[in-house]
Amino acid sequence: MRLSHTLAPTLKETPAEAQIVSHRLMLRAGLVRQTAAGIYAWLPLGWRVLQNIARIVREEQDAVGAQEMLMPTIQPAELWRQSGRYDAYGPEMLRISDRHDRDILYGPTNEEMITDIFRQSVKSYRELPQMLYHIQWKFRDEVRPRFGVMRGREFLMKDAYSFDLDYAGAVVSYRKMMLAYMRTFQRLGLKAIPMEAESGPIGGNLSHEFIILAPTGESQVWYDAVFEEMDFAAGRIETDAELEQFFAQMTTPYAATDEKHDAATWAQVTNQREGRGIEVGHIFYFGTKYSTPMGLTIAGRDGAPIAPHMGSYGIGVSRLVGALIEANHDDAGIIWPDPVAPFRAVILNLKPGDPACDRMCEDLYARFRGGALYDDREERAGVKFADADLMGHPWQIVVGPRGAAGGRVELKRRAGGERQELDIDAALAKIG
Ligand code: ATP
Ligand code: MG
Repeated sequence: MRLSHTLAPTLKETPAEAQIVSHRLMLRAGLVRQTAAGIYAWLPLGWRVLQNIARIVREEQDAVGAQEMLMPTIQPAELWRQSGRYDAYGPEMLRISDRHDRDILYGPTNEEMITDIFRQSVKSYRELPQMLYHIQWKFRDEVRPRFGVMRGREFLMKDAYSFDLDYAGAVVSYRKMMLAYMRTFQRLGLKAIPMEAESGPIGGNLSHEFIILAPTGESQVWYDAVFEEMDFAAGRIETDAELEQFFAQMTTPYAATDEKHDAATWAQVTNQREGRGIEVGHIFYFGTKYSTPMGLTIAGRDGAPIAPHMGSYGIGVSRLVGALIEANHDDAGIIWPDPVAPFRAVILNLKPGDPACDRMCEDLYARFRGGALYDDREERAGVKFADADLMGHPWQIVVGPRGAAGGRVELKRRAGGERQELDIDAALAKIG
């Protein structure tokens, strides 16, 4: 994209309403604009980041055998009456009525809907196990929407659901998802601590939250320093035994947030660390909590009806944009990890109108085939440098009159700030 014709309204001033660095930088770099309390429009650069995160989440869900689908945002209240949650959910649920006075709602989560779809279609034990997921907008009328997209009212979530014949099967599904989560966060360049959690309003007795460490996190975290060195890059994990071993290793070191912190156990930890954390994912096993009241049964091997054991697995896709910035920034702006950056590189034309600069920039821009942002604006060099740092593209290719005459550019790595003068081919080879 040419920056002169891109909707990327950067701000020099720090917006007064933003309390934390990721919110400030998302507004300043022109990634989002708030349209109502806790509701955001994703502008082109922010949308590209959101899509990149969703792609990585999707690839790792697919890799453990989860099937992607898409359920609607609007749900009939009737389904929630069947599970008993219509009244239980409270004021966070946005309740609406249509022109026929039928009660509908904007989904805060999808257990009821997936259970309904499953009970209409799946009849036999031969069809289990199954895992399904979608990446869809949710609405929760949070009391205090804050920190930008980190606690919005409308937000993008990946939610997956597993269906198994029994508890043992459900545990295998749970472990597969846990593995997918560790791989997802690792690919995003985040250190995520999996910690045992209370099961919360969704219920159940096997549950982990995934917490990113950041000073602005909403929860206090107590954890074993081992987590700081742990490499979650899973090697070959195919058999149930390998999965089992991986799982045991994940849960051994101590880690807890407020609800589960236990002073006696904590005293035994030799390398204690304390910090703040951001919850970016949450997984639960909840057995037959929905299948039983909603009448989901399938025929077992002997023909007798079985209520499937279920689990649900959430990742805050839009919250991750904020969490990634919390973990990757400096005083000048965002430092995007390569896999999620809106563009791999930005081309800075320091003298638009200069034939050599224009020619070199156009040539470079064409070679990226849409993978680079071209700062072709009639602006001072200082403004371009500042905006490039603010927006955080991993590579900056600086084209000035002197270099252009000699066929050379200056290549800057945003993370670390090293600069090198190179010819075009060498620069492109480095960017990869
Ligand atoms: P929290 O404790 O932060 O309120 P939750 O426990 O209610 O979250 P879950 O129901 O576990 O959330 O939802 C799964 C994931 O969705 C969370 O781990 C989080 O990353 C994300 N999420 C939940 N609420 C919000 C929100 N208001 N804005 C953005 N992301 C959210
Ligand atoms: Mg949660």
